[in-house]
Amino acid sequence: MDKITIKNLEVFCNHGVYKEENILGQKFLVSAELSLSTRKAGLSDALEDSVSYGDVSRLITAEMKKQNDKLLERAAERIAGQILKEFPLIDSVRIEVKKPWAPVMMHLDYASVSIERGWHRVYVGVGSNMGERQAWIDMAAEALRSDGNNRNFRSAQVIETEPYGYLEQDKFLNTVFTFESLYEPEELLLRMQEIEKEAHRERKIHWGPRTLDLDLLLYDNRITESPVLTIPHPEMTKRLFVLIPLCELNPHGVHPLYRKRFAEYKEALEQQENK
Ligand code: ADP
Ligand code: MG
Repeated sequence: MDKITIKNLEVFCNHGVYKEENILGQKFLVSAELSLSTRKAGLSDALEDSVSYGDVSRLITAEMKKQNDKLLERAAERIAGQILKEFPLIDSVRIEVKKPWAPVMMHLDYASVSIERGWHRVYVGVGSNMGERQAWIDMAAEALRSDGNNRNFRSAQVIETEPYGYLEQDKFLNTVFTFESLYEPEELLLRMQEIEKEAHRERKIHWGPRTLDLDLLLYDNRITESPVLTIPHPEMTKRLFVLIPLCELNPHGVHPLYRKRFAEYKEALEQQENK
């Protein structure tokens, strides 16, 4: 990926844990590495096809002066988030905030915090089989679409499907959402669980009736397993009600772990059903 770099932008401001730092202020140096494709601008020579490092430098200065943070971590996090939200051409950023006059009573060149943040492609499986099923799905779509940490939201068509697992229940409406997100996977899962709660979701019967079920299917090509979160979602290759809407949104998608196309899983299940 191409890069635009800003190195050691000097900003005088008042971050720090100590009261004296908040009153007197000190010098900070901020560096930013912006990842984006510069190909179009390289051919057109037009600034609107790229990102102005002047504009980014002004944003960094304003963000550094906007509030006093105790930690460099917090200042870096705010700068990264703001840059990604305001400059849509940028896919990811690396931010380093240096404190050359860090008050530690020892000599050092500087103390610094570096972080890397970016937009992540996400797929979410959606199901509802209780109450106003379509309204719950619309509510979830709106909550995820209007969240400032998400962008480029799209939904597949909603399909009606027979219950899965526990069969003594009503038919489901299912679909898949995709968007780009600044949330880390666990943060997104928590956000999805809050939305489920807003839909009065109660966890009673495993695979039983629910007003709204939101499952994190894919997060880039990330493969992780923890007590609260497994991605890719372990059941996704066995469920037509996931694979049909997923293949509509991403017909050439490949499973990050098994390296097999989702369309192949879908066709195999469809053949099984037709037997
Ligand atoms: P299910 O979706 O299998 O019907 P629930 O929605 O009740 O069941 O989810 C049960 C648990 O699954 C949640 O507490 C959550 O922590 C865990 N979980 C693990 N991986 C995922 C994932 N990728 N997406 C959603 N939940 C997950
Ligand atoms: Mg679930």
